[in-house]
Amino acid sequence: MGKMHLLSLDSEALGDFTAELGEPRYRSRQIREWMLRHFETDFERMTNLGKKLVEKLKETAEVSILTAKAMQVSKDGTRKWALATQDGHVFEMVLIPTENRRSLCVSSQIGCAMGCTFCRTATMGFIRNLTLGEILEQILLASRFLKETDGSRLSNVIFMGMGEPLHNLENVARACETLNAEDGFGIGKSHITVSTSGIVPRIREWAARAPDFKLAISLNGSNNDMRSSVMPVNRRWNIEALMDAADEYIHLTGQKLTFEYILIQGKTCTPEAARELRRIASQRNCKINLIPLNKGEDPALQPPSEEEILAFEAILKQGDFEVLRRRPRGPDILAACGQLAIPLKKVA
Ligand code: SF4
Repeated sequence: MGKMHLLSLDSEALGDFTAELGEPRYRSRQIREWMLRHFETDFERMTNLGKKLVEKLKETAEVSILTAKAMQVSKDGTRKWALATQDGHVFEMVLIPTENRRSLCVSSQIGCAMGCTFCRTATMGFIRNLTLGEILEQILLASRFLKETDGSRLSNVIFMGMGEPLHNLENVARACETLNAEDGFGIGKSHITVSTSGIVPRIREWAARAPDFKLAISLNGSNNDMRSSVMPVNRRWNIEALMDAADEYIHLTGQKLTFEYILIQGKTCTPEAARELRRIASQRNCKINLIPLNKGEDPALQPPSEEEILAFEAILKQGDFEVLRRRPRGPDILAACGQLAIPLKKVA
């Protein structure tokens, strides 16, 4: 039997685990505090646990199961880690520092099944879901890195790394709860965002399961032909079906929804597309995040010029909703939106 990955246990289950080791329940609270507040992974350094418990934990449990294979730093300060799992797969996470924020873009799956044409992760295909513990360990590793380098704390977590988070819904929901919990990482609900490609039934499920966290939907096309050409998911659930689910989500949760919209020259970034997008956004409580394409391998997909983006923005801004443009972070290390991918599937 392998060792228990303690990050995959919620407080209740961790209490049961320490009880099985013959320890009182308050010990689980101490362990949780070491992991989620001090980002400690070494039982020897959990100084208030007592020698006997430390020995038992070393035999039966572990806090860290991921191995950092590589870390790249962009000239804009963005950092990308390649993390290896115990079964030999590799996935990535990206830490994006700005003046007053420390945002972590986490992965929810290894690879992805959704096949979006502008996204390098799609080329990996779907390998497997990350476990709850593997998701939370990304937050622990980034938090520890910040603590040890500039003493700052993680302010935002976005599920926009590898994978479709709503295909790993329960683990992502539980991770969000631990991120937010007072005895967890203590990150505010409004600073935790999950981004979906538009799995309609799962949007409804998410609204019921985790209504307090932020949801972003990758729209990426203003009509069905356009969206289907970049996101195969649109052939299963078209824009009309997606907007029905979006409206239900807004109604049920009372939250403002974010639509992500990728700008591709001559395709999604045209004046007509801007007018169509304005029509969609004007009808609902939402904001639009514009993401100029980060160049991938497909020569047919090019980022628009600055003039084209400005013209697109000008049309959108005639609407009564918020429009933001996301500046690319870490494109020189392939850390920006749509650029995460691991060429090899298994490591030794
Ligand atoms: S954009 Fe997101 S949903 Fe689409 S293939 Fe990439 S990781 Fe998957």
